[in-house]
Amino acid sequence: MSTIHSPDLYFVSRDELDELDLKIDLVITGPTTGKVFGRELAEKFDAKLIIVNGDRRTIENLSELISGLDETYEIVAGVGGGAIIDCSKYFASELDINLFAFPTALSHDGIASNRSSLHYNGEKASIKTIRPNKVIGIREVLEKNPMNVGGIGDLLSNYSSVSDWLLSSRHNNETVDSEAYNKIMESLSFSSEEGLFSALTASGVAINLADSSRPASGGEHTIYHALSETGDYGSRHGELVALFGLFNLGLFEKFEEQSIIDWDNYRQKLEEYKLPTTLEQVGISYSDFESAVIRAQTIRDRYGAISLLNGDNTKSTIYSVTERVGLVR
Ligand SMILES: [Zn+2]
Repeated sequence: MSTIHSPDLYFVSRDELDELDLKIDLVITGPTTGKVFGRELAEKFDAKLIIVNGDRRTIENLSELISGLDETYEIVAGVGGGAIIDCSKYFASELDINLFAFPTALSHDGIASNRSSLHYNGEKASIKTIRPNKVIGIREVLEKNPMNVGGIGDLLSNYSSVSDWLLSSRHNNETVDSEAYNKIMESLSFSSEEGLFSALTASGVAINLADSSRPASGGEHTIYHALSETGDYGSRHGELVALFGLFNLGLFEKFEEQSIIDWDNYRQKLEEYKLPTTLEQVGISYSDFESAVIRAQTIRDRYGAISLLNGDNTKSTIYSVTERVGLVR
């Protein structure tokens, strides 16, 4: 395992934090996550605190904040969910300093990756930043957080994304980096919160190793991105990609292609973790779903099961698969 791609991982209680012997002089957090842990961390280290509101998480605003800093800093900590961690990655990249990520929820797999999703020029952009040097989970903050179900969903969706990746290597000669493949498969085994924490990090490391979100983002993510063009679904990322993974795996059966799990076994896993298995449960109409699948075929050049849909049969195939896997009842 090459450490260039992996952050150091710690899952500790508040009290054990002292034993890590950290130095932090700048803390980036959000208004809510600031109350959860961000302010406390800044006070503990006597660090400068920057609170970034939800509507200010744009490259333009972050650049302004960075140029307004009148001191030099050595280590920035990001305390929050995905969006705040992404802001802190941007800070660390621009300032060329080390980053410690303190996730306040285990809701997605981008924590350890070297990618940031930030708005620029009014549009969402995925940019390459740095990965955190350390990812530190605070037990009391992360335990029993209802948001964690999103992280489970994002991880389970890897069954679908890896199946797409392997499909592309069979049909399209895409390279499957073996280290990234092993890491992403490792991300599929988890149990406790601590296990979820390391599994999400493994998924992020697989992204770093492949130098692409490819291992953790297949057709199920592209459908999600297509849907997101019509509304803000960010807080439901995990449950939606998990649900769309069920459809994507249904396509494998339809086209008699091999996937790393059958859709019915996958659906059992969704049920086991109380994740949604129907469109109705997530309040998305069939026609919105259908349009998202159709748009997904063109918004991103990433080969997968949705690439097998074609021509006049597209709509009828989407419907029959949706019905077969139980997305519509
Ligand atoms: Zn994801």
